[in-house]
Amino acid sequence: MSDVTRRTVLTATGGSALGVIAASATPAAAAPSTPATSATASTAPAARTTTPAASSDRRPRGGPVPEPPKASEAVGYGGAVSCVDPYAAQVGIDILRHGGNATDAAIAMAATLGVTEPYSCGLGGGGFFVHHDARSGRTVTINGRESAPATYTETTFTDAVGEPLDFDEVVNSGLSVGVPGTLATWDVAARRFGRRRLADLLRPAEEIARRGFVVDAYYRSHTADNAERFARFPETARVYLPGGAVPEVGDVMRNPDLADTYARIRWHGVRDFYRGRIARAIVDEARRPSTAAGVDVFPGQLTLADLRRYRARTEHPTRTRYRDLEVLGMAVPSSGGIAVGQILLLIEAFERRTGKRVADLPEAEYLHWFSEASALAFADRNRYVADVHGVPQRALLSRSYADERAELFDPDVAAERPVPFGAPGRGGDGGGRGRHHREPHPGRSTTHLNVTDRWGDVVSYTLTIEQTGGSGITVPGHGFLLNNELTDFEFEPLTDGVPHPNLPGPGKQPRSSMSPTIVLERGRPVLSAGTPGGSTIITSVAQILLGHLDRGLDLVDAIAAPRLSSRNGTETADLGLAESPVGAALRVKGHELSSTRWIGNASGIALERGHGRGRRWGRPRLVAAAETERGDGGAARVLTRRHR
Ligand code: GLU
Repeated sequence: MSDVTRRTVLTATGGSALGVIAASATPAAAAPSTPATSATASTAPAARTTTPAASSDRRPRGGPVPEPPKASEAVGYGGAVSCVDPYAAQVGIDILRHGGNATDAAIAMAATLGVTEPYSCGLGGGGFFVHHDARSGRTVTINGRESAPATYTETTFTDAVGEPLDFDEVVNSGLSVGVPGTLATWDVAARRFGRRRLADLLRPAEEIARRGFVVDAYYRSHTADNAERFARFPETARVYLPGGAVPEVGDVMRNPDLADTYARIRWHGVRDFYRGRIARAIVDEARRPSTAAGVDVFPGQLTLADLRRYRARTEHPTRTRYRDLEVLGMAVPSSGGIAVGQILLLIEAFERRTGKRVADLPEAEYLHWFSEASALAFADRNRYVADVHGVPQRALLSRSYADERAELFDPDVAAERPVPFGAPGRGGDGGGRGRHHREPHPGRSTTHLNVTDRWGDVVSYTLTIEQTGGSGITVPGHGFLLNNELTDFEFEPLTDGVPHPNLPGPGKQPRSSMSPTIVLERGRPVLSAGTPGGSTIITSVAQILLGHLDRGLDLVDAIAAPRLSSRNGTETADLGLAESPVGAALRVKGHELSSTRWIGNASGIALERGHGRGRRWGRPRLVAAAETERGDGGAARVLTRRHR
């Protein structure tokens, strides 16, 4: 980005681009201070010194914030962060440097991603936060998933004659908007695990939103992909298509409305979002989205009571005993923890059946195993796992059930898809095959971040507004997009005559695939990982775990490896895998591969124990890793660098 000389500052103020303010500015020259300063300053009693009046002064102090350095791997000690975006990584590392812990850094990073990755996450969405406390050895999750309005029923997404509503029409409407859980998640996390006040942790993000950040190719392409959709909602076009155009790479994008919203929350508290002025703005817009002339969309049903009732809840993670490791993930309403766990347990069960070790398999054979395990896990996921009572989590994650299901595995031939779901805990064949699960966008929406700090705490956090750009609806005057998370519900039963657990319901949370994961060895964390990508999240996380833990890949290579996503229907593969000799060998076994450019956008941190000095002091060597190619590469940072 340092070769960028043209700077157009784009801002929603006044509804048009303000033009070139710093032609030929280099990033360093353009900004007298960086988020580092703001993070340092964040320890001051910010909320008391910043009044709403002062915060609504839309003139930014200082020029645009220059793009921080970006690398897909960093090795060192003392603390580490990884995610998709260099601004968020910088904010996180600054917080760690100035005494914040992993939770503080994770919240500040997530708030920053709400500015720089506003189509993947933000105040209008939800997510799952997994926290490992080194001192107590406990891992706790926070469920910040969006929930449906109290008026939703199993037939909310069907028309008068029982036919499902058009999916895209629901996406781009108030009907897809669930109660946002992201701010409640930060609030719970900060109170339970943080060292800093939430108000202080929002400051770096507020500053970046106000001063502006440098548009990169990833941001530009996300905006371009959604331009037509955004144009249907004038407020979204005003904020995200300033001057009616898609910003160019190298432009500076500002979002003073969002800066004001963060300032308002810092001043008035989280209450304002769930009960105050912001709550009213959300409800009004979701119920009656303002649209461009000639555009008609479904009204939403959110009420102030729905927002007032919302709570982000702390819950137990799923626990999968895999070899001598413990894999901790997200329980329902995510299917991630269970499905990732099942894939790993099935791989172990295949080893018992065949007498082979997955570590020794040639690539094509390994991917055949992986694909078959994934298909079996997805059959059960699609049938049983959702936000309902009685999900057979224990049985699904048992070794005996994996052995039972492994009987369907043929080491030489791909099973016919869809494979049948099983009968966990009951023995025998579940029998039903189910219809192929609808998968609208196995893409790049959603975002994931990882943090570990000097105390050894770890956060693995995936957050989203569902589709890239969410519902396309921006809350007027507040600068953030509302989610379309409720389209993660099924619109109608998948299997005729079988009531589906993921149909909508009052206050219900739609099933997710998000899989923020922490792996422990003898009670101590050795890995954190996660990714966006809709239902491909599950296969990507499982493949990264297998690549790193079993097949001896460095974490960055496990993340960079071509992905195969088999979800009990078509199998997608990225980075040319389908066209490679390995792809050809998979086809010989009966796999039908379809090719896609990128699956997911992952990041992780490996905590390597037992190396040299690290072993002596019990201090792990940290390897932060992100994508090398997908999403134009991610951002990995450590506090104190060491070379490999
Ligand atoms: N809404 C999806 C889920 O919760 C995540 C969206 C995505 O990653 O594309 O599973």
